[in-house]
Order: sequence, then C-alpha cells, then structure tokens
Amino acid sequence: MLMSGEEFRESLDRYKPRIFLNGQRVERVSQEARLAPGIAAIGVTYDFARDERHTALMLARQHTSGKTVNRMLHINETSQDLLTKLEAVRLVCREVGCAQRYLTHDALNGIFQATHRADAVHGTDYHQRFTAYLHRVQDEDLTLGVAMTDAKGDRSRRPGQQSNPDVYVRITERRKDGIVIRGTKAIVTAAPYVHEFLVMPCRTHVAGDEDFAVCCAVPCDAEGVTIVTRAAGRPGDPAAKFSSKYGQATGAVMFDDVFVPWDRVFMAGEITEAGTLTTSYATHHRHSCIGARAGFGDLLIGAGALMVEANGLDPERHAHIREQLVELIKITEGFFACGVAASVYCQKDGSGAVMPDAVFSNIGKLLLATQIYDMHKIAHYVSGGLVVALPGPDEDHNPETAASLAAVLAGREDIPYAQRAEVARLIDDLTVSREAGFYSVISLHGGGSPEAMKREIWRNYPVMEKVELVERLLDRGVLADGSRTSKQPGRCCVTGCEVPKPPLAAE
Ligand SMILES: Cc1cc2nc3c(=O)[nH]c(=O)nc-3n(C[C@H](O)[C@H](O)[C@H](O)COP(=O)(O)OP(=O)(O)OC[C@H]3O[C@@H](n4cnc5c(N)ncnc54)[C@H](O)[C@@H]3O)c2cc1C
Repeated sequence: MLMSGEEFRESLDRYKPRIFLNGQRVERVSQEARLAPGIAAIGVTYDFARDERHTALMLARQHTSGKTVNRMLHINETSQDLLTKLEAVRLVCREVGCAQRYLTHDALNGIFQATHRADAVHGTDYHQRFTAYLHRVQDEDLTLGVAMTDAKGDRSRRPGQQSNPDVYVRITERRKDGIVIRGTKAIVTAAPYVHEFLVMPCRTHVAGDEDFAVCCAVPCDAEGVTIVTRAAGRPGDPAAKFSSKYGQATGAVMFDDVFVPWDRVFMAGEITEAGTLTTSYATHHRHSCIGARAGFGDLLIGAGALMVEANGLDPERHAHIREQLVELIKITEGFFACGVAASVYCQKDGSGAVMPDAVFSNIGKLLLATQIYDMHKIAHYVSGGLVVALPGPDEDHNPETAASLAAVLAGREDIPYAQRAEVARLIDDLTVSREAGFYSVISLHGGGSPEAMKREIWRNYPVMEKVELVERLLDRGVLADGSRTSKQPGRCCVTGCEVPKPPLAAE
C-alpha cells in the first residue's frame, strides 16, 4: 500500500503519542497547525511516489520480497540504487527544504547490514527479525524516526560514568519476552509526526557498555514514551514564503522504562556490531545529507538568479555577480559529486546490501557542513540588503504606503514589485530567518559534527597505499640522490626494512 501525503497525515491518528509543544500537550498531531509544515514536507515523499513523473526515482523493488516500495524505505542492492536514492533525496528536498523521511531509509539500511554482521559473529537471529520488521514497514508505508543521538550529559565521560544515567538510552531489564529500555534521545527529526522510532546507539562501546549497545523499534505511542518538541518551520508567519508551508520539527524523546518485545529488538549487548551499526548508519545518512543539501543549493541558485534578474542585472555582463553564482554552483555540485562518487565506489557486503564509499560520503558531508555558510553569504551578496530590509507583507495592503512603496522598491521595469518582493522574502526565509539558522546547524551537526567526519575520512582513507607508492618511487631511485637506504621505521616492521648499519661497522 502506497499512501498519499494526505493519507500519511490521517494515518497519524492511528497513534496516541504523548507529545508536548511549547509547554502544552498536543492532543491530535494530524490537526496541529504548528507541526503542519513538517507533516506536509514528509507528505511530499508519499505524493511523489504516486506521481508518474517521479516514480522512476521514488519507487524501488525490494529484493528480499520482490515488492515495489517507496524509495525512502528501500534497501540498496546496487550502485544504481544509491545514485537513484541520491537523486530522489535531492528531488524531494528541493521541493520542501528537508523531506526528513530519508533518515528512515538510512537507518533501515544501516540496521540491515549490521544485523547480518552480528548474526555471522554471534549466531543470533537479528537479521531475520529485522527483515520481517522491514517488510511490515514497507507494506504499511510507514515513516520511522531515528532515535540515535543520546542526551550524552558530560561529553568527557563514557555512558556508564554519567551522574544521571538517563542521559543515555540503555537496557534496564532483560526479560523472557523482551527488554526494558530507559533514557533520553535528545535530537530526533520529525519526532512528533512519525509512526515509530528506531532506537540505535550513538557511539562506539567498550566492554562493560553492553546495556547501551541496543537497537530496537518502538511505536511512537508505546507506554512510557514522551516527546517534547518545537514547531516545524514558521507556521502562520505570512513573511515565511517557504517555511510556513514546509518545515521540520525535532524532538527530545524520553523512554521511561519502555518494554520492547524481542521481535522488535535488533541488537542487545553486541558492543562491536553496535559500533558497526553506528558507523554504517552514519555513512548511509551522510550520503543522503549530500542529496538533501544539494536540493537546498538548487533553491538558492534559483532564488539568487531570480533576485539578480529582478534587480535589473545580467550575470552575462556583470562578471562579479556571475562569479558568485558560479561559486554557488561549484559548492553545490562539488559536494553532490562526492555523493555520486560514493555511489559509484560502493561496496556490497554479505547481506546483499551496498554501502556508499565511506571516504566520499564523509568528504561530501564535511564540505556541505562547512560551506553552507558560504552558500548563505553568496545569496546575500548577489541579492542586496532588501532581503532583510523589505517591509513585512502587511505593508503590501496598506492604502497609505503600498502604491508608493511598490513604485520605488521595484527593480527592473518589466518585473513588478510584487515579484521582486516575493523572491526577496524567499531568500530572507532561506538564508536570514530562524529557519535559515536551522539549515546551517542541521548542515553542520546533523549526521554528526565535522570532527566525526574527519575521523571517518582518516580511518578509511588508504594513506599507507600512498606511502607505499612513494617508497616504491624512492626505492627505484626516482627521487633519491644515492644516499637513501631505508623505509621509515615501523612501516613494515618495527625497525624498517633495511636497517642502516651502525657507523663503526660501516667503516
Ligand atoms: C536539526 C538537527 C536534526 C537532527 N536529527 C537527528 C535525528 O533525527 N536523529 C538523531 O539521532 N540525531 C539527530 N541529530 C543530532 C546530530 O547527529 C548531533 O547534533 C551530532 O551528532 C552532534 O551531537 P550533539 O548535538 O550532541 O553535539 P556534541 O556532541 O555536544 O558536539 C558539540 C561539539 O563538541 C565536540 N565534542 C563532543 N564530544 C566531545 C568529546 N568527547 N571530546 C572532544 N570533543 C567533543 C564535537 O566535535 C562538537 O564540535 C540532529 C541534529 C540537528 C542539528
């Protein structure tokens, strides 16, 4: 069953989650105006899957069942799958800013691969359990929130060393019929309007951390779950051209002794494979973030070019404006190209699924994380100050000022003031407003802070291969002056391959 966006919204009525928004209880999520932009953004991933113009990108065949499923729920089998997913995420995010549901995809793929690995090592049956769960999620066309980032407390301490243990989600009881979990996941995208949560560990673990190495699926209205959220986008704000319609809420999700039956538990104490799960989700997610932010780049490129036009300038004639637009294109397509490379150089594992290349995924995410601020700057540079100075939309209807403002604040003669104002307000919304700050911070920290990407690049990059290349060249005398005798000590053995003779013996 493939739902429409409207059916997705209505499907939220099947659940009775305990949600608080700005200190008030939300009784019916589907009718909550402050969350409507978030529900609408996810709704686009449903509508596009039923729109024949987009089905090639938005639908996929699940190899384990043979069924056609939404791309946001599909397990990738080939490089082409990854490329198509990358394009699909870009497509929905250029439409709505952030379509959020790709997080479901990334978690499903990460768990699919990690459970297969855990079973091979421990003889468990997590993969079979998870595959059954996956098929149900696909059949019911659900959206799942990713509950990975723990509250973490004092960052310098490990989970078991925290004075308040509830800053990490952990297993507090193992029963015959399931486990009980407790703790807080601090930042969960779309938390108030998903069907279920996938709880996953957010860091690597050491012996003694077994209770923290937990992965399971929890319905949003399971007993003991509380969601504390904020509004999605800028609902009801007439100046918010874009984010009054589409936005994203995040929530803190508290698990207060929540029972999870075994058929929903996909890891419970396997510390090494829980680490594999964290990194494999992160790699899938960073790959998707590249598509998402490229979609945001598309919006800025289009809006920037429109604003330049409304200002009466022609990038063909004004080199400094053209140069800035080219810079914006370079940034956007530069990190997107990393996503393409990560897809092309993917690796298949024993589960039958493919992992995007870790180095290119992390470089792409690192580039967008830091260059998002440059993207905003370029939009400001080419637009001028009107994007922050324009009087609000109410002024458009003030009989005392509207006509005269429209006459003097228009730019190019054949472009009406209303159109120039509209683009200026869009750029304000995307690059200046509170929502713009949201896009910056989600780019910087969403999917892991820059340091996490740098570590992964260093961990996965074949530095030694480059060292060996240069050693080989040196050995062949390409760079040597004849006095070279050794490789670096410790490269291939403790002392180096050719130990220089002590000075005395040499004489
Ligand atoms: C808009 C948004 C949406 C998100 N959506 C989700 C989601 O759906 N699901 C989810 O699970 N997560 C989500 N995240 C969370 C995201 O993954 C985290 O923000 C990210 O991993 C960083 O964690 P943190 O926010 O706790 O910051 P911190 O971990 O506190 O990091 C802050 C800074 O401190 C540094 N630091 C932290 N610990 C140490 C240490 N021990 N030693 C040295 N330096 C350290 C970091 O490198 C960073 O520079 C989202 C984040 C954002 C902003």
